[in-house]
Amino acid sequence: PSPRPSPHVVLVASPCAGHVMPMAELARRLVAFHGCAATLVTFSGLAASLDAHSAAVLASLPASSVAAVTLPEVTLDDVPADANFGTLIFELVRRSLPNLRQFLRSIGGGVAALVSDFFCGVVLDLAVELGVPGYVFVPSNTASLAFMRRFVEVHDGAAPGEYRDLPDPLRLAGDVTIRVADMPDGYLDRSNPVFWQLLEEVRRYRRADGFLVNSFAEMESTIVEEFKTAAEQGAFPPVYPVGPFVRPCSDEAGELACLEWLDRQPAGSVVFVSFGSAGMLSVEQTRELAAGLEMSGHGFLWVVRMPSHDGESYDFATDHRNDDEEDRDGGGHDDDPLAWLPDGFLERTSGRGLAVASWAPQVRVLSHPATAAFVSHCGWNSALESVSAGVPMVPWPLYAEQKVNAVILTEVAGVALRPAAARGGVDGVVTREEVAAAVEELMDPGEKGSAARRRAREMQAAAARARSPGGASHRELDEVAGKWKQTNRAPYE
Ligand code: UDP
Repeated sequence: PSPRPSPHVVLVASPCAGHVMPMAELARRLVAFHGCAATLVTFSGLAASLDAHSAAVLASLPASSVAAVTLPEVTLDDVPADANFGTLIFELVRRSLPNLRQFLRSIGGGVAALVSDFFCGVVLDLAVELGVPGYVFVPSNTASLAFMRRFVEVHDGAAPGEYRDLPDPLRLAGDVTIRVADMPDGYLDRSNPVFWQLLEEVRRYRRADGFLVNSFAEMESTIVEEFKTAAEQGAFPPVYPVGPFVRPCSDEAGELACLEWLDRQPAGSVVFVSFGSAGMLSVEQTRELAAGLEMSGHGFLWVVRMPSHDGESYDFATDHRNDDEEDRDGGGHDDDPLAWLPDGFLERTSGRGLAVASWAPQVRVLSHPATAAFVSHCGWNSALESVSAGVPMVPWPLYAEQKVNAVILTEVAGVALRPAAARGGVDGVVTREEVAAAVEELMDPGEKGSAARRRAREMQAAAARARSPGGASHRELDEVAGKWKQTNRAPYE
């Protein structure tokens, strides 16, 4: 018989800015290096900005590598306006299942494996239905997966109907622990529907054939090792660290202005400050951060977002309820985030500081020779982009699993230094003195700053090794693709 066709892998990405990009890169690598064909499925209609982001990521893929399919919109009008962002995504994915099923059944030549993103665990049921392997993509790290594993173990260890609190601290693996204060959002408040949705999602994971994690073994080796042992003992599905996946975004004219400004700065003189695609600080915190940057005397490039007025630390600008009293679709407003900076701040720092509204070409900024440190909300993509550029960080976690990421970056990988007050992990304001001290420790390094800089360079080299041909992450992905080739039941050509 003629050789079997490449196994066709279908990847289903949640509608979050930080998920579509790494899944697209995973799909691209499966095609480019591991002999697979890949289709990336995305959702639409949750927010115009997220749809635009997905489209930009898909457009950035090389022609004729990864096929892309966008599922039609489904109505979310009946979901309460104040529902948690996670609840919205779980609902969107659940309601889109019939469309996804129809698409999967329509694929000529069959599907060799399904890879479902975090939030899309229900897709594993479709894998069972189709009789193909079902894998979970974790856009975060193995520490977050270890947390999810323990969360279910503790919860389901309780007698029926009984609740058991997560221990404080909770052991993740080896001597790596996290405190309740650092646990990801949504896993502690049983009165919020998202708690139960997360529990159901993570329970499903135990039926997965494996996990593909956007991390690499040298970054969190203790946790990776403990997962290997668990898989050998049949206690948990195999976990494959296959990252880091980093892709630069588009070249908008406004974005190029950042790079041109950086070109005029001395090497290693600039602190990059950014809180991801949705992070928000309070008005007071925005002013303290500005004062701290001014006080430090160092160069900075700050991506300023609209401040929060209600204590929320993120705004994904969903437009699932267009009848909402408050228009959360920022696109229609002409509000200027820079207007919230202290009076005279831009004038006093002009020349050494640049504040841009809402967005900067982050991957390129981090790899620019002028950039020396990154004040970051610790979204996992941002963390990996910083590590890949060898830039040490000041962690400023805000939402989702970012406090777990900050623990890994600070205490396990050693590439980040926390400002003193942020260690509390509560809503308190980080003062200007603390901001200035944290920035200075990395820019005019003392002992701790020098160690973080050294670790950042070491991790940069480790990340490059991991993803190069023959590197640890490359081998892990090859192993998984090899399994898919063996189980591929697609007909002979
Ligand atoms: N990003 C960017 N410019 C910005 C803000 C974010 O290019 O001004 C990109 C960033 O490089 C990263 C992604 O958006 O790839 C944000 O993902 P992350 O996981 O760090 O955080 P999230 O936005 O999902 O909280």
